[in-house]
Amino acid sequence: MTVAAGLPAQLQVFERGWLSSNNILLVGDQETALVDTGYASHSDQTLALVEAALGGRPLDLVLNTHLHSDHCGGNAALQRRHPMARTLIPPGEAAQVRSWNEEALSFRATGQQCPRFRFDGLLAPAQDIALGDLAWQVHAAPGHDPHSIILFEPSSRTLISADALWESGFGIVFPELAGEPSFDEVAATLDLIEALDPICVIPGHGSTFNEVTTALSVARRRLEALSRDPVRHARHALKVLIKFKLLELQTTSVGEWKAWVRNTPYFDAIRARFFASSSLDALSAEILAELVEAGAAFADDAQVRNR
Ligand SMILES: [Zn+2]
Repeated sequence: MTVAAGLPAQLQVFERGWLSSNNILLVGDQETALVDTGYASHSDQTLALVEAALGGRPLDLVLNTHLHSDHCGGNAALQRRHPMARTLIPPGEAAQVRSWNEEALSFRATGQQCPRFRFDGLLAPAQDIALGDLAWQVHAAPGHDPHSIILFEPSSRTLISADALWESGFGIVFPELAGEPSFDEVAATLDLIEALDPICVIPGHGSTFNEVTTALSVARRRLEALSRDPVRHARHALKVLIKFKLLELQTTSVGEWKAWVRNTPYFDAIRARFFASSSLDALSAEILAELVEAGAAFADDAQVRNR
């Protein structure tokens, strides 16, 4: 749990890491709410953290900033444990969640897991929502994900920034990988965050931080470099997807590893768009070798492992 200067007393951050996004628990007199729920394989830990912090109170609301597997993978487990809790999601993919259209949602394309969950309402941008007895503004924050929202509480100037701003950067700009220009949306979202002028930012990953001006300039420099070199961005994205899977699997056989790469449509889509002269096997082997070289993975003839 992180305790940063200036956070509202009703708010607790469960800092989780990279496979699971951070979770933010708000406990008010009126109701309790959890923002983002981590990855599916960590859901027992998510339930335990929430349970311990609630001290016997029920969970009333589950919210997602966006529907990536590391932010909504615990929804199903929380809905089972807290059947009275309402679940609110950003509007952009509501129809796909309702029909659980795995082709349209990102889980199958990225080769990640997310158990099916339901939702009960939407987090429409330009509205306020009461969380922990405080009125939070919902803002659209496209870029990393076209449908993402961020949450801002003006009296404490606390921002829940999801993957739009981290202390040192921001999440992969997914639409760019599919050929939808979105670096400008990342820039506009950084401008929005600057205009909100938060004192305290709770990112989707990493520690809560107060050095917002520094974080914004780091993010803008990174954005400029990536916009100049979209191939570098695509390569970085492949690396992140592989590392993410290794965090999930920890250890896997070489055969299973290659099958996962082949069965993850995102890989071949990125290869075809940015690395058309490489085969999928060659490209994935090259990226894995870079992770091994960087000390982030281990691979031999039999196994691939996280490190
Ligand atoms: Zn994300």
